[in-house]
Amino acid sequence: MNARRPTRQVTIGDARVGFVKIGGGKPDASGRATEPAPVSVQTMTTGYTYDIDACVAEINRLTAAGADVVRVAVPEKKDTEALKRIIPQVRVPIVADVHFHFQRALEAIEAGVHKIRLNPGNISDRAQVTDVIQACKARGLPIRVGVNEGSIIERKDKERRLKELGAFFSDNRRGYLLAIMITKLEEYLDVFYEQDFYDVVISAKSMDPVTVIEAYTEISKRFDHPLHLGVTHAGPKETGCIRSVVALGTLLAGGIGDTIRISYASDAVYEVEDGLELVYSLGLRERKGVELIACPTCGRIQVDLISLVQDVRKKLSAEVALPIKVAVMGCIVNGPGEAEGADVAVFAGDRRGIIYVQGERVANVPEEQILDRLLIECKQFEARVQRGEARLGEKKVDIVPPDPIGALGSGWEKMAAEKLRAGGEDGGTGVALTVGRS
Ligand code: SF4
Repeated sequence: MNARRPTRQVTIGDARVGFVKIGGGKPDASGRATEPAPVSVQTMTTGYTYDIDACVAEINRLTAAGADVVRVAVPEKKDTEALKRIIPQVRVPIVADVHFHFQRALEAIEAGVHKIRLNPGNISDRAQVTDVIQACKARGLPIRVGVNEGSIIERKDKERRLKELGAFFSDNRRGYLLAIMITKLEEYLDVFYEQDFYDVVISAKSMDPVTVIEAYTEISKRFDHPLHLGVTHAGPKETGCIRSVVALGTLLAGGIGDTIRISYASDAVYEVEDGLELVYSLGLRERKGVELIACPTCGRIQVDLISLVQDVRKKLSAEVALPIKVAVMGCIVNGPGEAEGADVAVFAGDRRGIIYVQGERVANVPEEQILDRLLIECKQFEARVQRGEARLGEKKVDIVPPDPIGALGSGWEKMAAEKLRAGGEDGGTGVALTVGRS
């Protein structure tokens, strides 16, 4: 992991919805260097903004899922009108995504929105952009400038510049595209700088993950504004996840990126969940809620682990707030080593689940009771942590010898138990293992 790239810092929000800082690390107006803010996770509503009740319900659902900032589209006046009634009902900073008409931006600002997103490909008139900048400046609102691949166009008088810039990039098509993005940004930001306005976040999304990596890498060398990362039109969750994580993970691991949006053609809650998991996995945010480890299953499995893992994920994310590490393992062969460091673990076998809390065996229940019992154990453990009686990640007990081998079923279970008894398989894990029927 590279250190975060220092940027200016931008703040979104107000006292009622809370403040979200984006970027940081460079000296602020008073000359003091700001700490880079944790990488924030954004998403966008999928419904019509003018459908007020549905929009509020969707924003609140996305907020409950963990979104730090929510964007809404405001293509028409009825959308910006709706914002006046939506914003007082939500508890998260709202960004108005303005396409085509600068008046929508002015109306959204009047309605109390917390940030504006402008697209240089669609709103380029200098006087109009200046009006929006001045309105944001008067209210202390930041602006995101998004030069997405789909909305920028070729300009003949830029050919020499494009060619020069294109030499920086890996191939002609990408080089050309990226050159346009950078040229657009330079032109557009000149208008902002002329107005002495620097509360700008930049995005340069493409549907091609490699273009995204190259574009943001180049932009990070040329501009000191915070960067909003994203792969646009990434597709459904099943494939969009890979496209987004490849690009955003590469950039974030390289220290580039201050806020992210993962885009899927599906429920936006998935965007939030996957965005959070990405920043947690890279250690860029302190985890909220359970960290789930689960085996991928194989021919040794003896319970319906795939359904169990899904149920455990849903239950625990809804009911456990602390970042407890929970392991759900299909058998005793590789389970103990792979569950190392888990606070709570369940090992399945022979249609039963054996549950451990920090190495201590606490239950051995039939398959149909695993979910409920695991939830009870997690909540009790959470309560102990909150009372200061236990600590997350603390290892208490080393390996517990298996039950008598004669009580075990199939041959591989006996072999695994023998290995464990010989003392070589636990790898020092704090999660103990016992196998057998009871
Ligand atoms: S823990 Fe057991 S069931 Fe799960 S993948 Fe590993 S060997 Fe297979």
